[in-house]
Amino acid sequence: MSDIIQLLPDSVANQIAAGEVIQRPASVIKELVENAVDAGADEIQVVVKDAGRTLIQVMDNGIGMSDTDARLSFERHATSKIRNANDLFEIRTKGFRGEALASIAAIAQVTLRTRQSDEELGTEISINGSELEYQRGVSCPTGTIFTVKNLFFNVPARRKFLKSNSTELRHIINEFQHIVLSHPEIGFSLNHNDSDLYRLPAGNLRQRIIHVFGKQINTNLNNLKSETSIVNLTGFIGKPENARKTSGEQYFFVNRRYMRHPYFHRAVMKAFERLISEDTYPSYFIYFDADPHSIDVNIHPTKTEIKFENEQAIFQIIQAAVREALGKSSVVPSIDFETEGVVDIPVLRKDSSFQAPEIPTNPDYNPFDAGPSPGGYPRKKEVLYDWEKLYNDPGPTRTETPEEEQRLFTEEEVNTQKAAEFIQLGKRYIITPVKSGLMIVDQKLAFERILFEQFIFSIAHNRGIAQRELYPSKLDLEPSDYLMLLEIKDELAMLGIDIGDLGTNTVVINSCPAGIESTDLRELVESLLEEYKQTEQKVGGSAIKNVAASLARAASAGSLRILQHSEMQQLIDELFACENPNYSCDGKKITTILKQGELEQYLK
Ligand code: ADP
Ligand code: MG
Repeated sequence: MSDIIQLLPDSVANQIAAGEVIQRPASVIKELVENAVDAGADEIQVVVKDAGRTLIQVMDNGIGMSDTDARLSFERHATSKIRNANDLFEIRTKGFRGEALASIAAIAQVTLRTRQSDEELGTEISINGSELEYQRGVSCPTGTIFTVKNLFFNVPARRKFLKSNSTELRHIINEFQHIVLSHPEIGFSLNHNDSDLYRLPAGNLRQRIIHVFGKQINTNLNNLKSETSIVNLTGFIGKPENARKTSGEQYFFVNRRYMRHPYFHRAVMKAFERLISEDTYPSYFIYFDADPHSIDVNIHPTKTEIKFENEQAIFQIIQAAVREALGKSSVVPSIDFETEGVVDIPVLRKDSSFQAPEIPTNPDYNPFDAGPSPGGYPRKKEVLYDWEKLYNDPGPTRTETPEEEQRLFTEEEVNTQKAAEFIQLGKRYIITPVKSGLMIVDQKLAFERILFEQFIFSIAHNRGIAQRELYPSKLDLEPSDYLMLLEIKDELAMLGIDIGDLGTNTVVINSCPAGIESTDLRELVESLLEEYKQTEQKVGGSAIKNVAASLARAASAGSLRILQHSEMQQLIDELFACENPNYSCDGKKITTILKQGELEQYLK
């Protein structure tokens, strides 16, 4: 037999490696900006076109490279940052693998211009899918400019995998934020399609956070500081009363590198326990300074999880530090750490944030007003056709559910409820007897389903949703939330939410659907965006359906309140008038029946 093993050509090996390091335009920005930081720059400018698909340019005023280094920097495993394996435990730079530039050059058209301060002339290199086009002398400022064009031009599968421009831009903004929040001493700017998204002058950490998130965050930042032999912590935590429905302003950094750490996140949340309501998140910006020997960053190139030697002890340190920082704020004037778990931390009361809006249904409006069916029950046969176009996969579990379980209740069965008794449990469940036992209805999911079907029905029938004019309220948003809101502006308009773009991350909301009586628009918009982020990740579904589901879910949070008998009756009626009364949009069970036989079992 002849030999069949061959070494892959570098260009192919680099393309394969690139798949690991460069997933999307945001990864290119992360790598290039981190290199600029490592090069000691104090001004870094990022210019992006079409969310990075056509152009990404990173300019720095760092140390630059010699002619030879410029050429070498594109080789795989070419790095100036470590020399041997021991150096892995002393890492203070962002990069060290020497893979990024080789990877980027394998899947894009890259030009590098660089000059060191003691050189008259700089050097320019052009590489096209790992092929060197030319290298020549050029006059340019001290520092380095990387220009990356047509990302994935030679990897169509990757190009197809990219999401919409606004989604890709959001990823870019996230990566950018992680770096700028680690390095307030460096000035940064980010420009997209000729408009500045950020201009961040060098300053201290508090100033940097304010520049990134807006002035209003200033009063929400409590200092946090803790020095121990294992780790030093500094940074800020937000006040409990400002905890928000959207996750997003929760940041950990270790040795000036962003990290995700779900376990440490739990430590922070534990310290906030009982100070905030369960579905809200406090802001935090917590910076760890740890001996590089005690952490392991040598993990997957793009992963942001980092392992610590002493995680349990650090958990305790974080919890204590956050409590102490909270104690210093006016909210919890004195917390005695020695009696932790015994002392009753006063539950914060801020009624407005827990106040439930009115039921999100409109009693005068019956979407299925094709006339009552013989049983007095709304009929909806006529709508089935259009409906299904929009509404062909109402939930993941639905298709996997056996036929008889899918339609748990017959109309007849529900009609026997007309005179029924209802019991409400914990502002969340409605319990009522049915033929076979006790029916339990999840009030929130029921509201969500009803609202969702109203939305979809109105759109499918071009009815337009009844709007409630509002006193126009202005909302300042984070850039990524702002972009996302604009991205779904048209869908929201179809659902009755009229949004005006005032530029620079500000919008004005002029109306909302009549069924939603929410008083706190900011809260509604925040949870809408949070829901949408999550729905969008679970790929699939048309934009309008995702937005409708997200809005229904966000608005249904307000339904968790005590209901009158007539309201419960109406809710049950409207639920069973729905096309799919059994499952929520994301496949959760809305109703269940506790069978009489099961009850007998319990009471044996
Ligand atoms: P790594 O950052 O892991 O070393 P890269 O492929 O990102 O690997 O970069 C390779 C080398 O190129 C770096 O080690 C550094 O010496 C040089 N380099 C990259 N970007 C810059 C820059 N902006 N300024 C100066 N040198 C740079
Ligand atoms: Mg690098």
